[in-house]
Amino acid sequence: MVEWRAMRPIRARIDSAALRHNLGAARLRAPRSRICAVVKANAYGHGLARAARAFAAAEGLALIELEAALELRRTGERRPILLLQGFFSPEELEPIAAHGLTTVVHNPEQLAMLEEARLPGRIAVVAKLNTGMNRLGFPVEDLSGVLDRLRNCPGVGAVALMTHFADADGKRGVRWQLERFEAATTGVDLPRSLANSAALLRYPESHKDWVRPGIMLYGCSPFPDESAEALGLKPAMTLASELIAVRDLRPGDSVGYGGTYTASGPMRIGIVACGYADGYPRHAPTGTPILVCGRRTRTLGRVAMDVLFADLTGIPEAAVGSPATLWGEGLSADEVAASAGTVSYELLCALTPRVPVSETP
Ligand SMILES: *Cc1c(COP(=O)(O)O)cnc(C)c1O
Repeated sequence: MVEWRAMRPIRARIDSAALRHNLGAARLRAPRSRICAVVKANAYGHGLARAARAFAAAEGLALIELEAALELRRTGERRPILLLQGFFSPEELEPIAAHGLTTVVHNPEQLAMLEEARLPGRIAVVAKLNTGMNRLGFPVEDLSGVLDRLRNCPGVGAVALMTHFADADGKRGVRWQLERFEAATTGVDLPRSLANSAALLRYPESHKDWVRPGIMLYGCSPFPDESAEALGLKPAMTLASELIAVRDLRPGDSVGYGGTYTASGPMRIGIVACGYADGYPRHAPTGTPILVCGRRTRTLGRVAMDVLFADLTGIPEAAVGSPATLWGEGLSADEVAASAGTVSYELLCALTPRVPVSETP
């Protein structure tokens, strides 16, 4: 009996060897730090369980979602798991304590919830300082008060310190924030965690006890001005599909909704089974890079919900069934993202559930 399976040709292939390779690259760059691999948002779209397995050599994992952290524990994960935004209501403290999760504490409201909680055990806490990003974290001046309150909390165990950089991938760098952090924490003998991928790669002075790489582990570059390949990273997700139609255009013919691309001469185009309902960015304009038959070409016209258009000029062998790579091996998601006015982070985690995922070991 032949088993039925989904045949629409789009697939996301996750390369676990690439995930392991990229973790190794982080290790080489930050040899004296422990690595807390960031696996939020379903491991940037790569699959939480799969990523946790591939990152077996990391000393810890970090994410946002409590449910995902509990799922990791259910499946036997023993390493420290850090909740990067901590908890949002007092009810979460019981499961956090019961399952030995580590929580960020970044505001006075969380501190008050911890003080009022009656817990089955002690929770490891990472106190987050705001050193200039003005997103999450206590003002640096409040550190000693926060630490006093944490020490007096019967539900609090080990305490560590962290901050997050606003511009480690850009011109301002990390120095200005690092100086504020150092000034505020001098003499405080607690483990520190500061570096995201960009800081890990460019600022060794920020490495400290724990680094927190995310995007680099998935094979993309955090920098607008340096490619993942130049950084020695390998793409872990390849979004691939096929041509499901091929047609010839005459001069003056236009394609897709709004007819935003018009042929100036005779040309061949391919219709690719991938659209924004698969997670491909609708804002990717004509000219966004795409591979057809392994050859680099460009998209044409407007991306639709289920299809997009590829220019087949110079690819005479292209036919219905020919492979198309939207991003991944041979075409960095960073490039596609840049063309669409976004970053690879957004493309990777925007992959939708209707795209079947396969894994290469
Ligand atoms: C997402 C996140 C990271 C990882 O950042 P990348 O740029 O993907 O390396 C590190 N720390 C915190 C607090 C985060 O939210």
